[in-house]
Amino acid sequence: MSRVYNFSAGPSMLPIPVLERAAAEMLEYGTSGMSVAEMSHRSKDFEPIIAKAEADLRKLMNIPDDYAVLFLQGGASTQFAAVPLNLLPVGGTADYIVSGQFSGKAYEEAKKYGDVRLVATSKPDGFSYIPEVKREDINPDAAYVHICYNNTIFGTKYNYIPDTGDVPLVADMSSCIISEPVDVTKFAVIYAGAQKNMAPAGMTLVIVRKDLLGKARPECPSMLDWNIMAENGSMYNTPPCYTIYMAGLVYEWIESLGGLEVMKEMNAKKAALLYDYLDSQDYYIAPVRKDCRSMMNVTFVTGNADLDKKFASEAEKAGLKNIKGHRVVGGMRASIYNAMPYEGVEALVAFMKDFAKNNPK
Ligand SMILES: *Cc1c(COP(=O)(O)O)cnc(C)c1O
Repeated sequence: MSRVYNFSAGPSMLPIPVLERAAAEMLEYGTSGMSVAEMSHRSKDFEPIIAKAEADLRKLMNIPDDYAVLFLQGGASTQFAAVPLNLLPVGGTADYIVSGQFSGKAYEEAKKYGDVRLVATSKPDGFSYIPEVKREDINPDAAYVHICYNNTIFGTKYNYIPDTGDVPLVADMSSCIISEPVDVTKFAVIYAGAQKNMAPAGMTLVIVRKDLLGKARPECPSMLDWNIMAENGSMYNTPPCYTIYMAGLVYEWIESLGGLEVMKEMNAKKAALLYDYLDSQDYYIAPVRKDCRSMMNVTFVTGNADLDKKFASEAEKAGLKNIKGHRVVGGMRASIYNAMPYEGVEALVAFMKDFAKNNPK
């Protein structure tokens, strides 16, 4: 077997102990006589799996009891519509901060449901930083404020939690969920697709303050109605059973390491290795403003599109996979989520040094 270092932005690497456990349990889970992939979601064997996944996540993220935890389908992109359908009353308004591609999509989607307002954007500067938004910038009548906490494509992250006063703050945390502790109580809603940092694709996590449930618009499809999903324990219909099981294994793995404080230390160490190298040389350029750098997605360019292409293809051959930047920005992007080992980043930095030496500009 030869496993590569997979720098993909998502779906992305999973921890080896999680894959080994899933492999060991593939043919028979416990004494059930079957795989989790074959189980009824309403069975005695599956019920504890989803209950434990939720309990472990609550413990890991310190999620208070007045928040519901939902395991849904449709990806984070479905939540771009679900957020206004659940929170934006007919004739109401909402505030959006656009700091990248996904928050831009969320904003465009929300426009279908009401008069939403663009509070701030870093688009004119190539999304190279996070706009600073103050309380007085927020419309106090807005139904909510939407942000994307970590911008997967551009490699930026909020270094602050916007103060929105009494206006509920909604955050897309798809690419930074469970990478470090966050104060859940500062947010009204947190949502995240599973495939960056939690599990294989197929599940979307929604954490929502319970007082916001039950306000969905009449036309909100039942499948997108958080209240219906909460009342049915995420089982209004068949949930993504196997992905929930895998997410549960990932939560257990983080707990076994020591929880999110330890996870953050490990992630910070990996990111520092790469950023310190980037800051120490002038062959590669890191386009993101330093105080907005993401710990999960690290972007850099050589400044020459042909060299960027060569870098990505030679890295691929060296077992450093999927390092090519997103098609809208080009260059390179190393996604170094929880499951990327420190050695993977060391291998990348060594490769970068060799490449710079062998390909003078
Ligand atoms: C990947 C990603 C999305 C889209 O997720 P899907 O599950 O593919 O819909 C949305 N927001 C962010 C921040 C992402 O990283």
